Amino acid sequence: MTTLTMPPHATTPAPGTPPDGAAAAITTPYVAVALPLGVDRTFTYALPEKLRGRLRPGQRVSVPFGKGNHMATGWAVSGQEATDLREVKPVAEILDAAPLLTEDLLDLAFWISRYYVTPLGQVFEAILPAAVKRGAGFKTVQIVVRTEKAESDVGRILSKQRRVLDRLAEGGAGLAPRELARQAGCTVAVIKSLQEKGLVRIETRQMDEFARDLFLELEEPKAVHLTAEQGLALQRVKNLIAAGKFGVVLLAGVTSSGKTEVYLRAIAEVVDAGRQAIVLVPEIALTPQTIRRFRERFTQVAVLHSNLSDVERHRQWRDIAEGRADVVIGARSGVFAPVRDLGLVVIDEEHENSFKQDTAPRYHARDVAIMRANLVGVPVVLGSATPSLESYQNTRSVEHYQEARLTQRIGGRPLPPVRIVDMRLEAAERKGHHVLSRPLEAAIAEAWRKQEQTILFLNRRGFATHLFCVKCGHAARCPDCDVGLTYHAKPGYLQCHYCGRRTPPPRQCPACSAETVNYWGTGTQRVEEEVRRKFPDIRAARLDADAAAARGGHEKILAAFRDGETDVLIGTQMVAKGLDFPNVTVVGVINADVALSLPDFRANERAFQLITQVAGRAGRGPKGGQVFVQTFQPEHLAIQQAARHDYEAFARDELESRRVRGYPPFGRLARIIVRSPSRQKAAEAIQALAGRLLEPARVAGVHILGPQPCPIAKLSRFWRYHMILKAPTAKALLFFWNRVRPDLTPPGGVQMAIDVDPQATL
Ligand code: ADP
Ligand code: ZN
Repeated sequence: MTTLTMPPHATTPAPGTPPDGAAAAITTPYVAVALPLGVDRTFTYALPEKLRGRLRPGQRVSVPFGKGNHMATGWAVSGQEATDLREVKPVAEILDAAPLLTEDLLDLAFWISRYYVTPLGQVFEAILPAAVKRGAGFKTVQIVVRTEKAESDVGRILSKQRRVLDRLAEGGAGLAPRELARQAGCTVAVIKSLQEKGLVRIETRQMDEFARDLFLELEEPKAVHLTAEQGLALQRVKNLIAAGKFGVVLLAGVTSSGKTEVYLRAIAEVVDAGRQAIVLVPEIALTPQTIRRFRERFTQVAVLHSNLSDVERHRQWRDIAEGRADVVIGARSGVFAPVRDLGLVVIDEEHENSFKQDTAPRYHARDVAIMRANLVGVPVVLGSATPSLESYQNTRSVEHYQEARLTQRIGGRPLPPVRIVDMRLEAAERKGHHVLSRPLEAAIAEAWRKQEQTILFLNRRGFATHLFCVKCGHAARCPDCDVGLTYHAKPGYLQCHYCGRRTPPPRQCPACSAETVNYWGTGTQRVEEEVRRKFPDIRAARLDADAAAARGGHEKILAAFRDGETDVLIGTQMVAKGLDFPNVTVVGVINADVALSLPDFRANERAFQLITQVAGRAGRGPKGGQVFVQTFQPEHLAIQQAARHDYEAFARDELESRRVRGYPPFGRLARIIVRSPSRQKAAEAIQALAGRLLEPARVAGVHILGPQPCPIAKLSRFWRYHMILKAPTAKALLFFWNRVRPDLTPPGGVQMAIDVDPQATL
């Protein structure tokens, strides 16, 4: 006899039982439905009598669509009393037993759709993992349960019906109708008759075949006494929690200053009160090291990796939705974790641009998280050693923002000394082309002799080349936009990809008249080669996207480095973040200039962040450490300030120049991109679009830069053009979008993307 037992947690409520936090049921004759079509509007459907009062916003419905009336899946958005339409098709079916989105996530979806100028249907699709929509790893079952109705209320009970009721009473509850009938020795019709009498109910449930335990053994946490600075920071968060209020605490703390310890304590506050916390970290920092620290403190931790299988992802989502996760750690999309009673949001490395999604909806997880916390009235902690200038400025100008600082490394270890290496001298005084400077070479050799380790950081190779003078370091910039100019080899010109200005490449350096203008482009392989050639005995490993894929994952490479099996680790962004190796005493930044020359107004900020992050990898142990930053622009302020670990000075200077140019945080940018396999179509489309937007932009006080080709003018078959919108305030930009939104449709054969608050403009 097979008895289908229902794990108590593996069910979703049957229709009619509203889950906690769901929106109120729709009782109107019509309903607005969002379809994931990329069409920027909702569609009106009639809600048949029998479905009224059963459908809630956030629930999916099956609706006839188009000429052929094929069935499409859409999302119920809101009830509608009336419609002007002459012909309205009816909703065919309600697909989910209960809304998949709670009311706060629905409100968040509406906000995202408005702010990021994205059709609502696309926003819903992004919020809910595909695995959940498909129901991966779950199956729908029907089960029979006894109702509250007394037998004495229904008159005579037939003997076959009696057998069913007896079977139900003695443990048959939760059986499928067919199985229950078999066990009671009758047909399913008998159960149907009991259902008609109101004695039993047939419920639809979703069953998880993979039920398992989330609980883990807790390790005894080490008794850690907070430093005075940590205590003050924690107190700020606790005050907000106690007051039950929204507010943002920017935790500006140097690397290794104990920020994570503050997060853990703040989270414990809300978890102890029975609520949940969401922790967002950059994908790259979602390492076992990070996760272990949370698992040591909290029993129920859900981790949303990007490499979860569909079934695992769905299960995690259920665990979270049904209250079996106290803490959710995830990358960007973790902001949509369906926690029931959100108490706190933590965003580590809040300045990271990987929190920005690069497909529609192009949301910034930090900003969405702040909005979500605002909607439910809970605090947010933003942590960084190099806060984004947006957040930093907010602590100065926005009421509900406050700052807490951790200025000291734990254990009083000093921040490592940073030495700026002038690559102009290297070029002038040495024969041949060297990626490694003499001081860096000497340091690598010395570290190796003492059995210490080195990390070499290489900026991701420039997507395009930029021009600079090897002799004096002069780099070409646009005088109007103050962003780096991009060099296009064919037919040979420099271009500003903000305003479009083109100039011929100079034959001589405009600053020092030398004829040594050059471009820089070095890959990690090249660095690895040079290390191997110069130090045949040193064991070097490369950690970049290629190497990580080829050699069985970047964990393996890191483990070998941690175990001392490699001496020098060479890598891209992957080595800059979060790694904690006490035996690393030398860190080298191979090409700081690449960051400075990005055609982006945040170039200085990126360079500053990069050097600070990389430097944070050195000197984490008692042996101390030193950092070498190789650059052709040693006088550059951002580099000097980073070398002095002087965020304050950097922020002050950089904010001033942003203010002058009207760049964020003092204004808002947005970007409209069109792409097409036909260059001409793309060019014509962006011109036509710009023509139409000109007048509404003028009225709204929004400035249009361009249109012109994107810095990456062609990407996998598609020609790309863009224009940049510069608005004095978020309000002006929103006003502009509201006016033009209905007309933002590109011609056939052309795709359009809108990026509000772009983090990169390539
Ligand atoms: P951050 O997040 O700022 O890089 P961490 O929270 O990771 O810093 O702290 C760095 C190290 O110091 C960790 O190993 C952590 O366990 C330890 N630590 C943090 N706070 C304290 C403290 N108050 N006393 C002793 N050790 C601490
Ligand atoms: Zn320009």
